[in-house]
Amino acid sequence: MKAKEKKKSGAILAVSAGIFVIALSISSFFLLQIIGRMNQSANQNLLTSSRVISEGLNNKITLDRELLSALTELLALEENGVIEETLREYADSTDFFRFAYIDMEGEGVDSEGNAVYASDLPFDEIALSKGTDGMSAPYHGASGRIHITYQSPVFREGKQIGAVYADRIIDDYNLPTLFTFHNGAGSAYVVDGNGDFIIKSRGTASETDVYSYLAKQKNGAAIQDTLRRVIQEGKSGTLVVTNEAQPSLLGFLPVESPQGCYLITVVPRAVLQQEAKPIIIMLCTMFALLLLGGLSVATLFAGRQSMKADVRQKEYREKLFGNLSANIDFAFLLYTPAGHKVELVSDNLSGLLGITPEQAQEKPERIFDASGLPQGDADRSSFFNGTLKEQTTRESMVGVGPNEVKRWIAVHLIPADYGQYLAVFHETTEEHNMREQLADALTQAQNSNRARSAFFSSMSHDIRTPMNGIVGMTNIALNNLDDREKVESCLNKITGASGHLLELINEVLDMSRIESGRISLKEETVHLPSLIANLLSFLKPDMDKKNQSLLMKSQILEHDTVISDGLHLQKILLNLLSNAAKYTQAGGDISLQITETPVDAETIRMSFVVEDNGIGMSPAFLKRIFKPFERAEDSRMSQITGTGLGLAITKSIVDMMGGDIRVQSREYEGSCFTVDIPLKLPAQQAREYPDLAGYTALIVDDDQDACESISLILQETGIRANWVTNGPEAVEQLWNAHVRKDDYYVVILDWKMPEMDGLETARQIRKRLGSEVPILLLSAYDWESVKDEAVRAGINGFLTKPIFKSGLLEKLRYYIRGEKSKTEALGTEQSLSLEGVRILAAEDNELNREIIIELLESSGALVDSARNGQQALDRYLNSSPGHYQLILMDVHMPEMDGLEATRAIRGSGRPDAATIPVIAMTADVFKEDIRKCKDAGMNAHIGKPLEIDKLYATLRRFLNNDQEKAGM
Ligand code: ADP
Repeated sequence: MKAKEKKKSGAILAVSAGIFVIALSISSFFLLQIIGRMNQSANQNLLTSSRVISEGLNNKITLDRELLSALTELLALEENGVIEETLREYADSTDFFRFAYIDMEGEGVDSEGNAVYASDLPFDEIALSKGTDGMSAPYHGASGRIHITYQSPVFREGKQIGAVYADRIIDDYNLPTLFTFHNGAGSAYVVDGNGDFIIKSRGTASETDVYSYLAKQKNGAAIQDTLRRVIQEGKSGTLVVTNEAQPSLLGFLPVESPQGCYLITVVPRAVLQQEAKPIIIMLCTMFALLLLGGLSVATLFAGRQSMKADVRQKEYREKLFGNLSANIDFAFLLYTPAGHKVELVSDNLSGLLGITPEQAQEKPERIFDASGLPQGDADRSSFFNGTLKEQTTRESMVGVGPNEVKRWIAVHLIPADYGQYLAVFHETTEEHNMREQLADALTQAQNSNRARSAFFSSMSHDIRTPMNGIVGMTNIALNNLDDREKVESCLNKITGASGHLLELINEVLDMSRIESGRISLKEETVHLPSLIANLLSFLKPDMDKKNQSLLMKSQILEHDTVISDGLHLQKILLNLLSNAAKYTQAGGDISLQITETPVDAETIRMSFVVEDNGIGMSPAFLKRIFKPFERAEDSRMSQITGTGLGLAITKSIVDMMGGDIRVQSREYEGSCFTVDIPLKLPAQQAREYPDLAGYTALIVDDDQDACESISLILQETGIRANWVTNGPEAVEQLWNAHVRKDDYYVVILDWKMPEMDGLETARQIRKRLGSEVPILLLSAYDWESVKDEAVRAGINGFLTKPIFKSGLLEKLRYYIRGEKSKTEALGTEQSLSLEGVRILAAEDNELNREIIIELLESSGALVDSARNGQQALDRYLNSSPGHYQLILMDVHMPEMDGLEATRAIRGSGRPDAATIPVIAMTADVFKEDIRKCKDAGMNAHIGKPLEIDKLYATLRRFLNNDQEKAGM
């Protein structure tokens, strides 16, 4: 762009220069012509002046001639005696200094009275001898000066009587009026054919001839020769000479008389060109001005072109930069180190680095400061002092402060043309992070691979160990069939080993499902109190074995029913709590705290905190705790079986639920896992709570927070609630109320309290106040173990921690007002009895069929079995409606599978076809399999191999309340 414009302005300059050279030549030509004409006119001028002088001289000579002629006529008339007198008179009254008369004899007299003889005359005599008049050639007279003599014959009556002569000093003709011209600047001389001066002029006094005069005036021989030649040739004209040290013009003109003489005129050229000079100067000045003007215009025009080009280029560049910066994330700085000048700054700089273009213009170093490139950096310095030789790229981090966002900025420093430097800035945080992530991913992949190999090697060990146990114990049992105790011990060990094996397999399967993305979450109604009770029923035995205490720290929870995936939610808590139990020494403390925070009208956030004072973990291990197959490498771990998958599974489930899991731990001190999960609330949340306004309640708990939260809930429903934090105070408070005849309607009493526990307090209360006031015992979970003792101490009912608002109020309604709710009627106090329950069990595997029959019948159930789906269907159809209370159905069976059989049962049209619970028993534990079961009309699903606890829990759900349809 720039080169093109430069070319254009260069071309303009060249064309302009061409035009002006032509104009100059033409003007010079005309100028020379003018000067030539002027010179010519000067020559003419000089010649004209010369002619005037010559004419003047001629006139003088003519006048003198006429004077002589008049004298001759006078002398012709006069007598001889008076001639002398007449001559004298004439000499006195004219410019002639002497007159003479000579008669025909050659003798005469002059005006001074001297005798004159024709033979003595110093010039060529013609008047006497030839009878003609004329003028002599100049000659050196007796006065030492040059004379001329006019001569004329004297005729009397037609006959010559003599001749008269008039002598004159020729130089007398040198009259200033005649021989000077141009206001005295020009001089005139008369020279003879040899160049000798006849009539002199100024400055010629010492020179006798014109040539030596010219030589003296420093004119070369060439000029003298030229003059000599032209005089000889009788020409007239002008010559350029030097006179009185100035260039002059010399005119030469032959005069009429004296014959053969030349009139020489000299005048300085300056004088001649006096009028022409201002014209020439004017012309030259005009021409010079014209030239100057033209050149200026051309330069201006070319400059304008180049300026226009520069402006256009700058505009183009700015536009280009503007467009570029608007469309890309790169910011630019164009800088000229030579002038410390910022040429261009892109507008997006402020967005990228927070430096406005004005700030950048003022101090470009700021941009580099903001980009994180430090002041001492060599490349930065060479950018600013113009020594950067080649392109270079630097990347720096900005935002190092504690509250600042860390960002990476790359700057490319590029030496550009015209001594300018370009700096291009852009953010590379994403690339940088990606690079780091890739590196991390690589390390992770390597670690994961390592962990996987370690896992497989430990898996083979982990599988072999229980298998060995099972095989070994089976052999021992077989060999000791008669020893009942030994067999029982062997069977117990086999149960333990197979339980572990099952857990291992389940977790590997879970993990593989999660890793392959085949797991998806259900949205079902989850009853949290049941979930927690279920959970604790699994965990309690292990904790009891290790004599660990489980503390429920939760305050009252508002919502007891949420929408979630119950099984997976349970799995999360189960993993955390079972780990807490596993990795905490015997006698250790474990706590579970549940808190609920509202998110919006439909959602709450539940936080589950599982804390223990067990072996804890190292900070290094904490970093990889949620990775699959990772287990702490700790000598204390060698005794604890595990897969290293539980927490990876837990984290995956939490993530899928949109929650968050965190862990804090210190080696030898304990661990604390926190899980936050958003949970949806069921649509019909507006529950009706009993109206208990006006009743009073006393809360007794050493945990003040618990007291406050319970009393707050009670007060919301109108109950006047007071609280105390220990047993004696409670007894006191109750007694005082009794004395005031303002007995409390109910006492909520915590079981575990220091000094005086709940049971003891109850005893004291009963002792002082009798059995009137209902006392509810608040316990963590295992009140059943103290049920009898509690009842004996005077406890009327039990409340389990964590307390849910609905459960609490329903319990109170029952104990204050005697109204029993549905929940209360279905309380957990009820135990499962299969006594007399008819169950149809379909299972093709004989061993499994035997096990299930054995398990059910040992609980009192009446079991009919079927080998395949068809047989099961037939048995169902052949029985009377209501005969079977429940069907257990294997899925994979020959002839007709469980799904088809269930569909047939549901479609049989019998009165109990829709209601009879059909429970799947299958090793297919994947979600799709469960869904298929549900789609076929099955109510629930039990995984194989059968776990007695789970089997009973499921049966309990369906047999206790046929109407309640538990979700799958
Ligand atoms: P595992 O089957 O080994 O228990 P997890 O994934 O559940 O697998 O746990 C991974 C590892 O994390 C455990 O092997 C153990 O080293 C450590 N860990 C988990 N929970 C605790 C805890 N409460 N206290 C100490 N260490 C724990």
